[in-house]
Amino acid sequence: MYSNHEGHAMLAPQGTDFLGPTAPPPSMFDNVPGYEGTVAGGGGGFVPPPAPYPPPAPEPAPVQPEWNIPSITEDTAREAFLLYASGHCCYSKAPAQDGVITSMDAFNTYRYRLETFIESRSTEWDHEVYNGQPVDAFTQTAPGPWDIQVQMPALFQDHTEDIKVPYTSSVKDCHTCMATGRIPCKECSGAGNKVCWVCNGSGVRSGEEQCSHCNGRGRENCSHCHGHGSTECHTCHGKRQLLVFIKLKVKWTNNIEDYVVEQSSGLNVANLSSVSGKELFKDTQYMVYPVMGFPDPAVGQAAERLVRDHQAKYSQNARILQQRQTIELIPITRVTYKWKGNSHTYFVYGNEFHVSADDYPATCCCTIM
Ligand SMILES: [Zn+2]
Ligand SMILES: [Zn+2]
Ligand SMILES: [Zn+2]
Repeated sequence: MYSNHEGHAMLAPQGTDFLGPTAPPPSMFDNVPGYEGTVAGGGGGFVPPPAPYPPPAPEPAPVQPEWNIPSITEDTAREAFLLYASGHCCYSKAPAQDGVITSMDAFNTYRYRLETFIESRSTEWDHEVYNGQPVDAFTQTAPGPWDIQVQMPALFQDHTEDIKVPYTSSVKDCHTCMATGRIPCKECSGAGNKVCWVCNGSGVRSGEEQCSHCNGRGRENCSHCHGHGSTECHTCHGKRQLLVFIKLKVKWTNNIEDYVVEQSSGLNVANLSSVSGKELFKDTQYMVYPVMGFPDPAVGQAAERLVRDHQAKYSQNARILQQRQTIELIPITRVTYKWKGNSHTYFVYGNEFHVSADDYPATCCCTIM
């Protein structure tokens, strides 16, 4: 389908494929055993890990620690509230300063978190400018996608790595320029010149006088290609050849899922994603066993469900490398206070003492009359 370009490669009309096809044609790719179906440009190509991976024997969870519930003092609540008020430039500090705390109620809640750190692999054909790199296609059998040794990054941190699959690299003619190293200039459509902008192509100006800009030719040299009609090919950078190879993309992903035990304080649970709690339990293993015997049965049920879900979901197309489960106790205190005769509430939550005060009574200090 590209043969009709050869005859007039330098004079191709302005069109959609004027600069040549962006993706190489499939005929450029060798048939590599074990990599059938690999395409260029990504878009899938995930390779499931081989099946006979030894099934995990989850270890029982460690012995329970002693659970204790921290609570905050009135001073802490007041300080956090003052900080909150001063963090809003328009809020008057008066309610936070002068409000009288009438009650403090703890609504501490548990957060169970499961993290599953996985590795997935996909393959695609790729190419780069050929500069004399080693060419090794078919000198040996290419190793399978999961047989290639890759250095693992730090646990529970997202990372990707691209690797040339050994014994798949070959040299091919550049598909964009048909191995000429040059493509038609896009400014002049390959002509090397264009209509003179002074005389608009007539060759004359004001009556009979010859146009001095183009010497009466009506056309001027294209400045983009310096009159050549072509520019360097952007795919091969003028080298005419490409190194074509299979790229292995290795991706490490940490999948985090939380379960927060329902609480009736009135605080929106979404607020809790920004804070940490007191860590009561932490268990890191190749594959965790759902935490058992926790005082709040909702936590145990969530753990069982999430562990089952993750192990089913992530062992299909990826390899689970490590799991971590934690239980945090997130302190939530609802503070009721009186200011100017009315009762209001605010919440102090998390180790960071974040404050939520939706009904702050003085949200504008700069009264303009
Ligand atoms: Zn002219
Ligand atoms: Zn040009
Ligand atoms: Zn090229």
